[in-house]
Amino acid sequence: MLGGHAQSGGWGMLGRSFGLFADTVKALEIITHDGTELEVTKESNPDMFYALLGGSPGNFGVLTHITFTPFHDEQYKGSRGMKAIYNYSHANLKRVLDILVEMAEDDAFSRNFDLGINCLDLGASLGGHSLPDIPELKVPELDIYKPMIVIYAQWVPTSPNDTFGTKEQAWFDRILKGHFGIPIFGLNEVVKAPMSKIVQMWLFKKHREFNTPYVKRTYLTSSTTLSKTGWSDWVASRFDAIVGFNSNSLHFVSQIQVFGGAKSQFRVNANNGTSHSWRDTTVCATIDCFHEDNEIAREAAESWQHKNDVEGIGANGKFSKVDKRVLWGSYGDWNMENVWQCYYDDKEKYEKLGRLRGKMDPDGVFTPNPFSVKRIL
Ligand SMILES: Cc1cc2nc3c(=O)[nH]c(=O)nc-3n(C[C@H](O)[C@H](O)[C@H](O)COP(=O)(O)OP(=O)(O)OC[C@H]3O[C@@H](n4cnc5c(N)ncnc54)[C@H](O)[C@@H]3O)c2cc1C
Repeated sequence: MLGGHAQSGGWGMLGRSFGLFADTVKALEIITHDGTELEVTKESNPDMFYALLGGSPGNFGVLTHITFTPFHDEQYKGSRGMKAIYNYSHANLKRVLDILVEMAEDDAFSRNFDLGINCLDLGASLGGHSLPDIPELKVPELDIYKPMIVIYAQWVPTSPNDTFGTKEQAWFDRILKGHFGIPIFGLNEVVKAPMSKIVQMWLFKKHREFNTPYVKRTYLTSSTTLSKTGWSDWVASRFDAIVGFNSNSLHFVSQIQVFGGAKSQFRVNANNGTSHSWRDTTVCATIDCFHEDNEIAREAAESWQHKNDVEGIGANGKFSKVDKRVLWGSYGDWNMENVWQCYYDDKEKYEKLGRLRGKMDPDGVFTPNPFSVKRIL
């Protein structure tokens, strides 16, 4: 699973510290539209490199090999990570989201920190999550997890001058302490370990299967005023509306992560030769709504998400004034001609990609569906 991941960006828990997975790519070996094997690098074919990394996956060539620059533990000694689990409650979620919002609003916030906040409603939908198998986390007599908040917090020294001191510890402590409710057993500690071990704390280690259908959303914002719009309180109230058992078995699973700040490597990597859009993102929020497999439940899930769209996005939106989406988390209309503004920074970029597609795919060989940059010949 790399061909699509690299082309759609590869947004992960290391975003602020290290940027996108695509930012590590050095060379792409492709089969071109006429069957030629070609190695593409930023230096040898800057336009092709640009189009392949951020254009629209699958529409510029068939990737056969990717060469990327790995990060080595020895360069990042002293890294810390913390995975904390709380029972879900409005107050608990708002409290930690407010910490995330502070980061998003502080343009000077240090590159060293990453923070992701995941909410899992009744966890039956999310097979594969690496949660401890202990009775206190489960609904009595049912083999499903109670609604919970799972926090991934990470600090990594990105330069030799970075040291882990009281200020850094205080950041973790603030997340860990002062919550309402009992954090769960032993996971809530700051672990000092090599990055190669810390990243394993963020992985789903088991096979991941979704047992029920879902209506998905991934929203981006470049806002630095989320505290003023009351976004954290609003998100928690939207989750409150369906948390726990309900008639259509609507259950949310969300992943909210901060990417912003002038020092964030995700931001710094803008204009690095890739074409991935929305490098001004401060927060990325994936909010999926699982539901029972029937039409009524589907409509209920759509309706819940529609309300999130209407209240969250737009001129008076709690989250973003502009509707910004990611290629890896698309939803709604899949005809790119209607929605390209949601996926690409601006018309200039979209049309440049269209012209490149005209060159790299002149006969429409790579046209699997309408979710593609329109070819300009
Ligand atoms: C549950 C879930 C969680 C996810 N979480 C994240 C996340 O946190 N961050 C993130 O960035 N993404 C996430 N994704 C999205 C994921 O990265 C994308 O779906 C990605 O495209 C998957 O990569 P793939 O190689 O499996 O591509 P596929 O799903 O197989 O294909 C996606 C597209 O890429 C094209 N493609 C794939 N391989 C090649 C190739 N070799 N040559 C040319 N074109 C190719 C396909 O034609 C298709 O258009 C998630 C997806 C799921 C289902």
